Amino acid sequence: MKITAALSVSPIEIISVAGQKIYIKRDDLLNTHFSGNKARKFAYYLQNNQDLDSITHLVSYGSIQANSLYSLAALAYLKGWQLDYYVNRIPSWLKGSTLGNYGQAVALGANIIELDDALLDSMNINSKVKTENLDSIMTLFSKSLSNNNLFIPEGGRHSLAQIGINTLAQEISDYCLNHGLFSHPNKIQIMLPSGTGTTALFLQTWFKENNISIEVLTCPCVGDDSYLQQQFYQLNTNKSHWPTILKSNKKFHFAKLEKSHYQLWQQLLQETKIEFDLLYDPIGWQYLLEYMETLSIEENKNSTTIFYLHQGGLVGNQTMLPRYKRKYPEIF
Ligand SMILES: *Cc1c(COP(=O)(O)O)cnc(C)c1O
Repeated sequence: MKITAALSVSPIEIISVAGQKIYIKRDDLLNTHFSGNKARKFAYYLQNNQDLDSITHLVSYGSIQANSLYSLAALAYLKGWQLDYYVNRIPSWLKGSTLGNYGQAVALGANIIELDDALLDSMNINSKVKTENLDSIMTLFSKSLSNNNLFIPEGGRHSLAQIGINTLAQEISDYCLNHGLFSHPNKIQIMLPSGTGTTALFLQTWFKENNISIEVLTCPCVGDDSYLQQQFYQLNTNKSHWPTILKSNKKFHFAKLEKSHYQLWQQLLQETKIEFDLLYDPIGWQYLLEYMETLSIEENKNSTTIFYLHQGGLVGNQTMLPRYKRKYPEIF
């Protein structure tokens, strides 16, 4: 398999959704194997940095369906490293699958490890204390790893992620400059749904530090507002550099296959001819559409320029779509 580390400047296209013009930053088109915000977050490691010369293993953890699993596997493959990726459990329906983030990561040589009691014992972690907290177990475990191991926390939530996200911020800012968007008496806002909040936080931080008047809008996908604020806090204690968290009236559970999420995804595909990710994007668009409704009442729609960041993740759709089909055959 041929994989290259080159990340192009991703294009920005103009689409129309719910009668409003939206600029879309196509980070899904960065590179076939490193798409979306994971490519941005791991961009530092794609370069040839001397500090990585002694690395033989890449160690990470998280959800078995995470988009970061696939991107980490591609990174390890490219670098000739072994990826050890820890999960709570591999569901039986997924085992042996060649599709989605899990299947494709295995095809790239990823070693996926279930944290069972025996393994916890060998890590000297009392399995009675274990509970569900993968994050704290792995943080503890990472301290015992030798220097040949590169440890990346769940979802790429680390300060070096800033390097690739700065490039993204620069690309958006350059586009606005080249297209005269700053000269209008208007507001520029960019929406992206958050998991760990790393991308949104570093994006807003760069704009603030460089005096670029672009406001980052986001929404929590995996937890609530206060969970997201805690994540922001871990990366930057200066609240004035935090993105704006939008409000929604609708309730949902992450990755729980909401019928309305699939329907919104399908509607976007028809209206824009762009395939979005099924985990985060339906939530992001739901918040954005609700927000845009309030705009048309409270202020002139035309004075706000809205961007949406397509953060990739399409490999995950290979397993999400069949799951939706099984659950809601009537809407296919
Ligand atoms: C990982 C991911 C996110 C969440 O990014 P964070 O930086 O963790 O907030 C959003 N969308 C897609 C498609 C992703 O793969």
